[in-house]
Amino acid sequence: MTVSLPMCSVDFMDTTLSTEEQAIADRIEELKAQLGEDLLILGHHYQRDSIVMHADFLGDSFMLSQMAAESKAKYIVFCGVHFMAESADILTTDEQHVILPNLRAGCSMADMATLGEVEVAWKNILEQSGLKDPIDRPDPVALADEGDSYLVPVTYMNSSADLKDFVGRHGGIVCTSTNASGALQWAFDRAGVNGSVLFFPDQHLGRNTGSAMGIDVSLMPTWTPGIGAMGEVEGSRIILWHGFCSVHKRFTVEQIEAFRAREPEGIVVVHPECPKETVDVSDANGSTQYIRNFVQQQEPGARIAVGTEINMVARLAQEHPDKHIECLDEEICPCSTMYMIHPAYLMDVLERIVDGEVPNAIKVPESIQTGSLWALERMLSIKK
Ligand code: SF4
Repeated sequence: MTVSLPMCSVDFMDTTLSTEEQAIADRIEELKAQLGEDLLILGHHYQRDSIVMHADFLGDSFMLSQMAAESKAKYIVFCGVHFMAESADILTTDEQHVILPNLRAGCSMADMATLGEVEVAWKNILEQSGLKDPIDRPDPVALADEGDSYLVPVTYMNSSADLKDFVGRHGGIVCTSTNASGALQWAFDRAGVNGSVLFFPDQHLGRNTGSAMGIDVSLMPTWTPGIGAMGEVEGSRIILWHGFCSVHKRFTVEQIEAFRAREPEGIVVVHPECPKETVDVSDANGSTQYIRNFVQQQEPGARIAVGTEINMVARLAQEHPDKHIECLDEEICPCSTMYMIHPAYLMDVLERIVDGEVPNAIKVPESIQTGSLWALERMLSIKK
């Protein structure tokens, strides 16, 4: 079955399905046809092929949040993880329903920062650094006046809605791996030349992006709840939450060296959620969409090792049979939470929608919608 998708379209579908899987796939397509324009299925690049084949749009978290914000569909079925569906709910109207096929599909990185922990860190860092809280300004997102120094929060999209609300209210911004440098620059402009940014939950994205912007690692201490800062908070430029992605932290310098020993002409591209040492010795790094474009641009015959989630790497290999594409880590598994979206769950929620239910709806409480929306809209307004 070949499915054409708008914008980031792919034509790689020669997925071999068992009889039972084919029956589920056929039923999903029937249900999609019944729901017509009332339904939009969004799929993240890390989803398995048997989900992606049903997606109306395939993208990274930035593109999918844009797609949700622009959609008029009544039902948006989000084949991704919980924080993505929350952001989609915040960006859509009250009349639209965002549905996550499996409510257990979370993200271990997002779980590494809770609102309570961030509030404690925020208070401690303000005390230790002498920086001001933007929430106390008449306009929390005004550019910093000369001589003023603020602490500005920046949260990765991979965080819960209550953290996005905290960030929005304290004059901060959401970022994705696509626009992290733009979001950090936005925050620096509001922090002032002697101000700082609290970046959470992914230390690696923060450190890699800060480094690429010319910030020395000594000015980027790490903050661990219950322990505090590793390094000086006073005079810092970015304070990095201790979180990490359990998939991307597996990619190592040794794997790159082994690949290059085997493939002297080989090229290595990795995601910026990988540790800095890995990113530093790679040939290129960037978001999932960046990696897709990078692979596309390589010459036929290129031999490429990719450091990101295996479903996406396997799909890239299928899409580019004229290139040799392999995963940097031979033993890597799919992201276990992305993998919780199984076609049977997708079929089930579609059946129930057709029956008049709104199953597995993700509804962000009204009390945390406002700040979250501010923080997300600030992200959508900046250039990458
Ligand atoms: S790949 Fe990492 S950051 Fe992305 S959903 Fe999985 S655990 Fe979370």
